[in-house]
Amino acid sequence: MGVRAKIVGEIEATAQQYQLKAQECQSRAEVFEKELLQVKDEKSKTELELSQIRTEVYQLQTKYDEKEERELCTLCLENTRDHTLECGHYFCLSCINEYMAAKTCAMCRQSFQRAPLKIYFS
Ligand SMILES: [Zn+2]
Ligand SMILES: [Zn+2]
Repeated sequence: MGVRAKIVGEIEATAQQYQLKAQECQSRAEVFEKELLQVKDEKSKTELELSQIRTEVYQLQTKYDEKEERELCTLCLENTRDHTLECGHYFCLSCINEYMAAKTCAMCRQSFQRAPLKIYFS
């Protein structure tokens, strides 16, 4: 075998090795792409779940706020507002006694004559 043929043979062998490596890289890239798709799929699923959870939390929060709105005295934010005045505003009895000695509603300044009416929530 001449020197030239030997060199050509070596070059061809090297080229073949590179070819193999290129194929390997290609198949690895395909695997990665598949995995990437799966991850993306999971990500969008997770995002969907997350937005559903957010919606649920929001709904619960709204329900909670409504409940708070309905039940807590707007003055002390502690007691149940279970007494109503003639103007239709609700407060707890201790706030009515404390802040409305002049028989004037703290919200609308309307005066009231009758005693606050106790409300019973179901
Ligand atoms: Zn109160
Ligand atoms: Zn009022």
